Amino acid sequence: MAAHDHEHDHDEHEDEPELDEEAAERQRESEREFIRRQALAQIRQYPDVALRMHAREVTEFDEFLIQLVERLAELMHDAQGVGLAATQLGVLQRVFVFEPEDEPLRALVNPRLTLEGSRKETKEEGCLSLQDVRVPVERATKVVLEGKDPNGDDVRYELEGLAARVVQHENDHLDGVLTIDRTDPESRKQALGALRPQPTFV
Ligand SMILES: [Zn+2]
Repeated sequence: MAAHDHEHDHDEHEDEPELDEEAAERQRESEREFIRRQALAQIRQYPDVALRMHAREVTEFDEFLIQLVERLAELMHDAQGVGLAATQLGVLQRVFVFEPEDEPLRALVNPRLTLEGSRKETKEEGCLSLQDVRVPVERATKVVLEGKDPNGDDVRYELEGLAARVVQHENDHLDGVLTIDRTDPESRKQALGALRPQPTFV
């Protein structure tokens, strides 16, 4: 899932920042943007068929799984996202990582949403596989997420707010479900229009 907004830390200075400091900051920003675009280029983009596939349960807790989780975490950070599912890399395994604001990075293997609170909330969601598309999606505000960590140990998280939203979004990816499937008809129509490949004139 894409981050809500891109916050940049600015150091407070008593006096006017030096010109070369501003230039250095611009340089860092353009480097971050380059890294973000490179990461997005490695994430499957709509309408890639992998995004519509159902991922399989993980049965082997091996080196491949550890490497997959590391790659997911790295690409999620580089793409400035808050969650990323294995299907978004074309790997059809039930694995995702998430890291909402102020929360540690977590990797879930064979996740299950075992409880969804009855209170729902509709908010706009972005997705690293649906660039530039943000649509309103209704989600439960509280969930319980159970599954395994990459070592095969049982984990259980009670989540709310953004974290609850992110894991519902990522869990959907493992079943080939996207935000455009869960939004209202008008938002879906607009999003599909924006996603339609544009004709190229040469
Ligand atoms: Zn997504």
